[in-house]
Amino acid sequence: VTAQIADLSHWWAQIHPRDAGPVAYRPSLTESRDADVVIVGAGYTGLWTAYELLRAEPTLDVVVLEAQLAGYGASGRNGGAVIAQIGGSRRYWAKKAGREGAIAMERAVQGAVDEIGEAIAREKIDCDYGKNGVLMVARNEVEEHHFRAYIEEDRTWGFGPEDGVYLDAAQLAERMHVAGARGARFSPHCASIHPGRLVRGLAEAVERLGATIYEQSPVTEIAPGRARVGALEVRAKHVVRATEAYSESIPSLKRHLVPVATSMIATVPLTDAQRQAIGWDNREALLAEHPFLHLQRTADNRITIGGDDPRVPYLYGSRAEQDRPSQRIVDHFRGQLAELFPALEGIEIENTWNGVFGATRDWAPEVGIDHNTGLAWAGGYVGEGVAASNLAGRTMRDLLLGRSTELTALPMVRRATRKWEPEPLRYIGAAAIWGMRTLGERNEVRSGKPSKLWSFANKIAGFDGRLG
Ligand SMILES: Cc1cc2nc3c(=O)[nH]c(=O)nc-3n(C[C@H](O)[C@H](O)[C@H](O)COP(=O)(O)OP(=O)(O)OC[C@H]3O[C@@H](n4cnc5c(N)ncnc54)[C@H](O)[C@@H]3O)c2cc1C
Repeated sequence: VTAQIADLSHWWAQIHPRDAGPVAYRPSLTESRDADVVIVGAGYTGLWTAYELLRAEPTLDVVVLEAQLAGYGASGRNGGAVIAQIGGSRRYWAKKAGREGAIAMERAVQGAVDEIGEAIAREKIDCDYGKNGVLMVARNEVEEHHFRAYIEEDRTWGFGPEDGVYLDAAQLAERMHVAGARGARFSPHCASIHPGRLVRGLAEAVERLGATIYEQSPVTEIAPGRARVGALEVRAKHVVRATEAYSESIPSLKRHLVPVATSMIATVPLTDAQRQAIGWDNREALLAEHPFLHLQRTADNRITIGGDDPRVPYLYGSRAEQDRPSQRIVDHFRGQLAELFPALEGIEIENTWNGVFGATRDWAPEVGIDHNTGLAWAGGYVGEGVAASNLAGRTMRDLLLGRSTELTALPMVRRATRKWEPEPLRYIGAAAIWGMRTLGERNEVRSGKPSKLWSFANKIAGFDGRLG
């Protein structure tokens, strides 16, 4: 790791402060060995898989190989919204698996929000879990129209008021004081967490159940029956790939899951006056559109904010990371924060950081296994992976144990999706799509009407692109 551990994210800066000295890594793999299952990657996906597998079959010998340290990736850097959303739109999943399949996906990811809460309580993981729902705030007519229509559509799919309601401006103001808000869509299916403490606590829970996690052990090759770390290897019947946005670190996985870069910032703790001015007593997750933003009020009273970069977030050649967010993007988030909550104008920013999430070519997650080779894979949550990775972990457990369950029947269980285009086509495509989206978004805000350009760009990209 070139950057200091504390620079990885605000969450890491809290877990391992800058003045805390070198971090204590777990031992790395020093000799080849056998196992029943070897999992590559110690983020939520790998760790939930190990956790669920060992709870179901405590005698299994499970090894996790991690290139850096548990929680190094998106799992230690995200916005902490355990949101019941899954990549791919409702229509996308319905096309793949019919209406029932799409509904089953949504219900399953809703269930994951509670599953995570239960596991956190069971394992006594101190990570500020609070299931307070999510508010998707409408700041203009198009958004209001869209959110109201979404609730109406919900009803036709069998989702009731217990799944989502539209709050008008007065109802929203009882919860939170967003400047110029016309209302919000509220869903109770979301919790807020300290993502870093969850991933670190989960790693310890997995070890208590008997798994061995090797850190600083980058896998260089995955093949049937083995995961290689340079000259060493772990031999196992099943090899699970849980490397998400970093999958291209393994040469055979090029062009499958590409990394999409995204940045975040965290403020200093709010003063009492600022707290009162913004309301927000319940720690709901907060989302906004135009531009897309996600915010958390942390248990220690800071605001974290992240979202779309108005410029292309995809780095040429899938370069995974830049060390720090640019001043431009930090200013963008600060400006948006002050627009939402004028009382926070000029608030000091304590931490800024970058992360990457993984995207499949069809912008929807996948979980799968090839029983002939013993190779298995999960990931591609396209930025909505905190709840979905728990669902993936439980699903992977059933696949590895050869069980046919409701989870293994979900449409996200499938063969690996088609590959991305090689460079430079991939970058040109990403830049064109992002450019059209940005322009379309501006048009929507200016004209107050849904933008055809925006819908078109999203269609080519293969995702719905709207909140919810
Ligand atoms: C800034 C940011 C904000 C986000 N906000 C949210 C949010 O609020 N809500 C939400 O639902 N989702 C959010 N996401 C997405 C979510 O964090 C991810 O979908 C999720 O954490 C993915 O978990 P994972 O375990 O699959 O991947 P990761 O956590 O990235 O883990 C992959 C692990 O594999 C390791 N690895 C990679 N290559 C190798 C190798 N060759 N050998 C061994 N190990 C390897 C990495 O070091 C890493 O630890 C956000 C993502 C980012 C980046």
